Amino acid sequence: MSQTRTLSGLPASPGIAIGEPVLIENRPLPVIRVAISPERVEEEINRLREAAVRVGEHLAALREAARARMGAEFAAILEAHRLLLFDPALTDEVEAVIRRELVCAEWALEEVVRRFLQRFDQLADVYLRERQVDLLDVAAHWQRELQGKPQPQLANEQPRVLLADDIPPSQAIQLAAGSVIGFASEAGGLTSHTTIIAKSLGIPAVVGVEGLVESARRGELVIVDGFEGHVLINPDPALVEVYRWREEEHRRRRQELLQQVHLPAATTDGHQVRLLANVDLLHEVESATLAGAEGVGLFRSEFLFMQTAPLLPDEDTQYQAYRKLLAAFPGLPVTIRTYDLGGRKLAREILGSMENNPALGLRGVRLSLARPDFFRTQLRALLRVAAEFPGQLRVMVPMVAHLEEVRAVKILLQRLAQELREEGVTVPPTLALGAMIEVPAAALLAEHFARELDFLSIGTNDLTQYTLAVDRANREVARTYRPFHPAVLRLLERVITAGRRAGIPVSLCGELASDPLAVPVLIGLGLPEFSMHPPALPVIRRLIRGISLSEARRIARKALSFASAKEVEEFLWESFSGLLARLQVRVRV
Ligand code: PEP
Ligand code: MG
Repeated sequence: MSQTRTLSGLPASPGIAIGEPVLIENRPLPVIRVAISPERVEEEINRLREAAVRVGEHLAALREAARARMGAEFAAILEAHRLLLFDPALTDEVEAVIRRELVCAEWALEEVVRRFLQRFDQLADVYLRERQVDLLDVAAHWQRELQGKPQPQLANEQPRVLLADDIPPSQAIQLAAGSVIGFASEAGGLTSHTTIIAKSLGIPAVVGVEGLVESARRGELVIVDGFEGHVLINPDPALVEVYRWREEEHRRRRQELLQQVHLPAATTDGHQVRLLANVDLLHEVESATLAGAEGVGLFRSEFLFMQTAPLLPDEDTQYQAYRKLLAAFPGLPVTIRTYDLGGRKLAREILGSMENNPALGLRGVRLSLARPDFFRTQLRALLRVAAEFPGQLRVMVPMVAHLEEVRAVKILLQRLAQELREEGVTVPPTLALGAMIEVPAAALLAEHFARELDFLSIGTNDLTQYTLAVDRANREVARTYRPFHPAVLRLLERVITAGRRAGIPVSLCGELASDPLAVPVLIGLGLPEFSMHPPALPVIRRLIRGISLSEARRIARKALSFASAKEVEEFLWESFSGLLARLQVRVRV
């Protein structure tokens, strides 16, 4: 009998999942140029065609599953992919390359796709340029089939544990509709967007697990331990028992905390802060209200685009989505962030080409200002909805580094408000406009930004990435991704102080807001608003109610005096592990 195999990674989303695995390989497969003899040409072309038929069947099955679970829009995307597979413009050219250059089908396909992409880049039509993603998707399926690799299969009737090499955010949003109870991946970091989605959905996850896909086998039981960051393959029955018990304890504790969400988030000496929710997908609204969210500190609007990609959501679709969000939190602040596309989030689809260094490329507000067509649609939808919910909407701009970017957004908003007025649409007299402070340059100049804006929100996920020059999603450098680095803490202090002096709210919506070791420091620095994935809210409320402001101030002062992340982490652990154990708060929530 084979034994338990334990692999380790980063504990990305807390909880335990036990089930059979679904294996997914998403990374592009390597393609080798194999020369063939003229006699083998017809055989090779047959192999290409047969693979296309199988992919077509697979896509048709996916289309029907998507129609049933997610609606006609998703089904239409898959149908477009299927049709492309039999488009003679593509298939004839691949066959011609096999004949002319006497190469294997895999190489011919790769070569033709490469040439098509070059041609796409020269197209002026945005809609056609966006067809690239369809082509790449179809080609990836086809290539997998030719090489005898399994096709990614997320739609599954049975509860399953997803094991993958990499899960892009666009695929992660499908988890919301599916039966995935936990996942683990080889790629990813603690603040990558796929991790953030898993946390929001309350799905236990471990990322950065080396050798995962190779070790897993279909049919063998898997345990994903999102607390400790372990994946156990083929676990011993006694271990399964232990983990089932832990899973049950976790559920019991969550229920207990959910009974206390109506209590104020106030320290033992009466200092109160506001707890807000980060919402990525609209159906998280329910869990956010159940968890006692006092509004929304971050709605990642770009996820709306991921659901309709490759088409952009139109003004009415956005208006309806924003309305739903605001209506769910009557009288409370709701912060909608304008598109933060680019980086790993649909860069290829929206830009029409790959960037060498996407995290430093056309991302966030830069992309929005460079493509005013789609930004305009979003701002119009926001203005329309703001009028219906007076004083509730906060509009937040991501990735600002220059004051001029903020000013350009203001001018655009004024113009669009005028345009809407002329169309007879009611617009609000004022609109709260704020910015994400997630680029060190903006943090250093926070007092200037604070003077021109109505609120600030600190994005520690990116602020850490850019301050320490560490890719937030790269497993290889995950150990040096340390938000407790004193350089990051000093920037936080600066931004919080600038907000206080200017008399405007400052919130923190990066993952640090839900890190129990960071909470006392943030309270001590005077942060007035914390925003986090809904499942973390009850735990953080409990923690805040167990500490005092005076002690938190002392802790914050001391933390700022250290010279390295390690010193800060050790100090916080020594100071708080006892309290956390007493309150039954795990270090990662
Ligand atoms: C951040 O950068 O901290 C943030 C909240 O935004 P995102 O994670 O979407 O980049
Ligand atoms: Mg960010």
